[in-house]
Amino acid sequence: MFTLLTVRAARTRIHSQAQRLEELAGQDMLTGLDNRLRFTDIATREAARIHRTGEESSLILMDLDRFKNVNDTYGHPVGDEVLRKAAGVIQSNVRDTDHVARFGGEEFIILLPGTSTDGARVVADKVRHALSECSFGPPTENLHITASFGVASLSYDRDATPDAGCPVEHSSQVDRAYQAADSAMYHAKRNGRNRVEVAPV
Ligand code: GH3
Ligand code: MG
Ligand code: MG
Repeated sequence: MFTLLTVRAARTRIHSQAQRLEELAGQDMLTGLDNRLRFTDIATREAARIHRTGEESSLILMDLDRFKNVNDTYGHPVGDEVLRKAAGVIQSNVRDTDHVARFGGEEFIILLPGTSTDGARVVADKVRHALSECSFGPPTENLHITASFGVASLSYDRDATPDAGCPVEHSSQVDRAYQAADSAMYHAKRNGRNRVEVAPV
């Protein structure tokens, strides 16, 4: 009994240390994509850049639809394989200059530097279509994966009056854009899934 508890405690410790290392490395071990921490850092630097240049950049947040069913039907290891393949499909349908990350679970995020929300909507729809057409090998021949997408602008409101003397918090701008993309994505879920919604400006 004592040995079992000791082994369990050690396993839990190793698991949380592995997660911490993964965070520090900035990489998601399952898919090889950037993780949330590194992505947020890149997006914050992009926000600072467009604040200076006045360019437009956008975020696409996407969440796989009914992914729990995949695990329930085929098991967690197959679910992991589907996540890896989905990551590859996303990556191969965006530009090299875009940044793709696994934001957590079955949620991915894409930063599109120098791209308006109109352009980002087109990209999101391209990824949506590619994913829905993707075939997953055995034992998932009959599996079809879809995702719901939320698009939001990372750009600054040029009409907003800056608080005099206050430094601009670019990380807050990233948070705002993320919240907007998240709520657009939830609209996509509520409106039937496998679709793209753009956040209002
Ligand atoms: P919705 O369309 O509303 O997003 O439905 P959903 O089933 O995708 O959403 P829900 O949040 O209920 O479930 C998310 C599922 O994603 C449950 C969880 O097991 C699975 N998941 C999250 N991370 C991983 C992972 O790393 N590997 C595997 N295999 N599954 C994961
Ligand atoms: Mg989901
Ligand atoms: Mg989710």
